[in-house]
Amino acid sequence: MYKALYRKYRPQTFSDVIGQDHVRTVLKRQCETGRISHAYLFCGTRGTGKTTSAKILAKAVNCLDPQNGEPCGKCAACLSIENGTATDVLELDAASNNKVDDIRAICDELIYPPTALKRRVYIIDEVHMLTASAYNALLKTLEEPPEHVVFVLATTELNKIPPTILSRCQRFEFRRVPAQDIAKRLLYVSGCEQLRLDEDAALLIARLADGAVRDGLSLLESCVEAANGGPIDRSVVASQLGIAEDRTMLKLFKAVAGRDIPACLSLLDEYYASAKSLSVLLDDMLSTVRDMLYVKQGGKAENLMSNTEPLDIKELAALFENDRLAYFASVAEEARNRLVGYAMNKRLITELALIKLCDARFSDSPQALAARVTALEKALASGVSLRPAAQPERVPGAEHSPTRAEAPAKTQKEPAQARPAEPEEKPFEYVSELCEHLSHRSDIRKLIETSDLFTQGGLLIIHSSSPFAQSVLSDVANAELVGAAARAATGRDYAVTVTGPRPKESEPGFLNELQEE
Ligand SMILES: [Zn+2]
Repeated sequence: MYKALYRKYRPQTFSDVIGQDHVRTVLKRQCETGRISHAYLFCGTRGTGKTTSAKILAKAVNCLDPQNGEPCGKCAACLSIENGTATDVLELDAASNNKVDDIRAICDELIYPPTALKRRVYIIDEVHMLTASAYNALLKTLEEPPEHVVFVLATTELNKIPPTILSRCQRFEFRRVPAQDIAKRLLYVSGCEQLRLDEDAALLIARLADGAVRDGLSLLESCVEAANGGPIDRSVVASQLGIAEDRTMLKLFKAVAGRDIPACLSLLDEYYASAKSLSVLLDDMLSTVRDMLYVKQGGKAENLMSNTEPLDIKELAALFENDRLAYFASVAEEARNRLVGYAMNKRLITELALIKLCDARFSDSPQALAARVTALEKALASGVSLRPAAQPERVPGAEHSPTRAEAPAKTQKEPAQARPAEPEEKPFEYVSELCEHLSHRSDIRKLIETSDLFTQGGLLIIHSSSPFAQSVLSDVANAELVGAAARAATGRDYAVTVTGPRPKESEPGFLNELQEE
């Protein structure tokens, strides 16, 4: 008879259970010394070995020939439990069986000694599904259980278990199994089954299993069928399990590396059109940035967390300095938090985040500053002159020529053709007209009047040194108001962004200091 892999390779002893060392050590010791508790609560996500461990425990307390706390697996007791014929071991799924009558029935039979085994073991799976009255019945039996009874309650939702039950059980938490442990198990099983599973494919399956060994084995099983006797490699796994090789992050961060704002925005368009959630995009960005940082510190591929291919992560990580990655993380995180707060304009918030990634001048976070300094140091080390006119590549921070309102002549001497992709910031010429269109909102108007307004392509950039003004004007509804006023004043559409004050003369001085060093 065909047996599913996860059944065939179900752990038979505590030592076989992977990823739960803290649980198995204690259980083994209790069985060895005979200090068995009357009620256990196993909690943790699905597929982490809760019911498997419960069954091993049932065998271990009943085994006729136990070995250092482990069941022998060969005696009559072990065998009857293994093939489900032992009437003294009862498995109950509360998800389908949450009636108070079933629990009452259990309570009624408790007084009788076990028929064939040493102890009666009740395994109640998904115990959080029990009704309140079923809990009450259970509680009574847990208060004074007979000597020969052991309860093992299992749940995926610890928070739903009443405290009265919790206080009467010995609790064990089952953790998500690390991907590399699952991969090892998959490779072991493949060896036994003479399957040609390669390491890379094993890791991919293990990551998809998300901490659940059982899921890993089921996924492997479906790949075995697809491979039809051939080798099981990464591409077989990807096509069988329906993971489109996700290259969105590769494309996106490559565009960011090239400071290509239009490319970033068109990628966002594509993503948005496919009706995917923008907060998922930002989450993916965060985990991809985390992985890049991790790889740069010499971390191993099996510990990567994002859906981006390990090879892509390596390629991307080489494009950025640590400081810039830390800056990316802060921008993506801020945008994600704002998405949670605002129901509207998620797209605008995400667009602004992408623009900030490409051009750190739109952000005045400490991370942006640190990234600029690193870029400057790198430029200096490679002997690049930091005079804006002679600058061959766009380095964040270094690209800021002193373009204050009083020095416009100077900027015009150094024309923008050095950086054709990115138009120069120009003073916004219709401030008074814009303010007129804000006459119904004197509060916003006042904040605009005390800020410096610049345009850059389709962006209206509000520079303000006041954190209060920044926060009020960043509010999506207020930014929209300003955008509408700008449209009314100029006939053009602008995306409004709010940032800190424009750098003043201190910045060139700071450049000179660096140059002199
Ligand atoms: Zn045995």
